[in-house]
Amino acid sequence: MANATLRIDLDAVLANWRALDAKSSAATTTGAVVKADSYGLGAGRVARALYRNGVRKFFVAVASEGAILRQELGDAAEIHVFSGHMAGDTDIIGDLGLIPMLNSIDQVTRHFEALPAAPFGVQLDTGMNRLGMEAGEWEAVAPIVLPAGPRLIMSHLACADEPDHPMNAQQLAQFHYMTDGLPVPRSLSATGGILLGPEYHFDITRPGIGLYGGLPFEEAQPVARLSLPVIQTREVAAGETVGYGNSWEAEIDSLVATVAAGYADGLHRALSGKATLWADGTPCPVVGRVSMDLITVDVTHLHEIPKTLDILCPDQGVDDLADVAGTIGYEILTSLGNRYQRVYSGGDR
Ligand SMILES: *Cc1c(COP(=O)(O)O)cnc(C)c1O
Repeated sequence: MANATLRIDLDAVLANWRALDAKSSAATTTGAVVKADSYGLGAGRVARALYRNGVRKFFVAVASEGAILRQELGDAAEIHVFSGHMAGDTDIIGDLGLIPMLNSIDQVTRHFEALPAAPFGVQLDTGMNRLGMEAGEWEAVAPIVLPAGPRLIMSHLACADEPDHPMNAQQLAQFHYMTDGLPVPRSLSATGGILLGPEYHFDITRPGIGLYGGLPFEEAQPVARLSLPVIQTREVAAGETVGYGNSWEAEIDSLVATVAAGYADGLHRALSGKATLWADGTPCPVVGRVSMDLITVDVTHLHEIPKTLDILCPDQGVDDLADVAGTIGYEILTSLGNRYQRVYSGGDR
């Protein structure tokens, strides 16, 4: 089969969740962010494994992701929607008991008119200027919102992956100013915020990338392994070229393997001529351009041509590959295409 295999280690996801959970006190509940199909790794499988191991608070970006999750997890999971209550989402939110994180006075009005008895949370902006109510708006609606019993008040840090950045303390102070003394559970931190220390933890944390093996959680266990099948190999004589644009020319007589994956599968074209694939611990340089469905690799130095070459493996994690592509681990993961055969292991099945 010419489909590449994406192996997802659910035990590693669980170990990463436990390691992050252990960083805060027993008074803090650790949730899980499973938006964007669990960062491309499969929201259903990942969330079910977490749920079976005691996680109850889940976070998604949009209501339709929440609908899928409700089907996977059943009624007891608490599913929070970062984008809040958008026009057109009322039925999904009401019927499936999702918890929209209301972001604006408009959303408060919409929610209270359409679903007056339904659960909700509040998202505050503490300086990132992306999503949530600012201090003035919050002051105006708090007297209406608080008696209705929000499930959660949250905000999001802009610079949590830079521990020394002054923005962290600034947002922390603003979050205290906007929420101290309110009888509502609070949440400020994603993966980066958890690593900043206990004063950032509040009642609930919201790790995403750390669960999936990415920075800034340096101690994370790798979760994804991606193996690309070798379709054919060919001898390329010195002076011959490989691939689109003739961008690589063999200096010596070489052996080049063609593997089945390309930029349509999320292996960015920026990896052309730069990335490394791995044959059981031996590095093999990508030569020429990454094309839509194929990548060419110099395997001259291998004694035996393996059936597959790895692009994500213990030798090269998502952040290593991201560095080569000039991006971040988040984007490598969420770009992973839907042509891969996803194979799961672990997770207490
Ligand atoms: C994506 C996201 C998270 C998770 O962030 P990570 O850096 O992946 O841990 C948490 N909260 C909000 C609001 C988010 O958008």
